[in-house]
Amino acid sequence: ATPTAVMVGTGVGASQGVLIKGGQALESAHKVDCIVFDKTGTLTVGKPVIVRTELLTKMVLQEFYELVAAAEVNSEHPLAKAVVEYAKRFRDEENPSWPEARDFVSITGHGVKASVHNKEIIVGNKSLFADHNIAIPDDAEYILAEAEKMAQTGIVVSINGKVAGVLAVSDPLKPGAQEVISILKSMKIKSIMVTGDNFGTASSIAREVGIENVIAEAKPDQKAEKVKDLQASGYTVAMVGDGINDSPALVAADVGMAIGAGTDIAIEAADIVLMKSNLEDVITAIDLSRKTFSRIR
Ligand code: ADP
Ligand code: MG
Repeated sequence: ATPTAVMVGTGVGASQGVLIKGGQALESAHKVDCIVFDKTGTLTVGKPVIVRTELLTKMVLQEFYELVAAAEVNSEHPLAKAVVEYAKRFRDEENPSWPEARDFVSITGHGVKASVHNKEIIVGNKSLFADHNIAIPDDAEYILAEAEKMAQTGIVVSINGKVAGVLAVSDPLKPGAQEVISILKSMKIKSIMVTGDNFGTASSIAREVGIENVIAEAKPDQKAEKVKDLQASGYTVAMVGDGINDSPALVAADVGMAIGAGTDIAIEAADIVLMKSNLEDVITAIDLSRKTFSRIR
């Protein structure tokens, strides 16, 4: 394509909310034959809501949620935001201040840790508790398994090294997500889901959206590894993601596409930004590239 055609293509993209960072990104997009999708915030709305709380210790909900929110308020993760939002209902104020959290640590793809009121609080997925040698009791395992079957994500909370509660979070698919995946199929583009979430929840969501290929419990570097593996098998790979944890994969991909509502780090790492945060624009970007680059060879 001529420089003028590329400029026109980039301009048309911008006018439709598809921000293309340079001619190379626009060019690469027409060769894409495989797309790796992140789950949370990419295929799903990314505004998860707490749908169940089970306390496994003698404690009132207000006290429990105060500790959990104080730890999670320091995290940018959508699940953390869901917890803090839910915790507000146990407070009188609209915008409550939470107790101070000391020694806050965010463990990417797993959860958070902090000390609140001199209690050690850990909030996250099962593997985080395995890493800390904290046993998950059978009743907690049962609640987690139930959640996964319903495509919900289970969150475990421990206080001073003992599991104190389990939360279930629901994060529905974005409207039109199924249609996008089926259109991509008709365009002979393979779709894969790569997520840090557990396999049970991930496969329930994948089944709903129509993706057959699922990689779960993937750490950020493993998301990038998957992209590189696919490239090594001959695919031209696009990665679509919204989180810090997606940035290495966004960089590794032939075309990194960030969800506009995503974190700044993902947006910086990407070649294309989908400003409207909808999945249809993955197709808009590829179409635009095909139109720009198929005429002139
Ligand atoms: P995804 O790839 O779907 O965007 P992440 O890699 O960000 O997911 O997170 C993987 C899993 O780690 C989540 O599904 C959740 O179980 C757990 N997790 C991560 N961050 C948090 C947090 N702040 N609070 C609770 N759980 C978390
Ligand atoms: Mg995400």
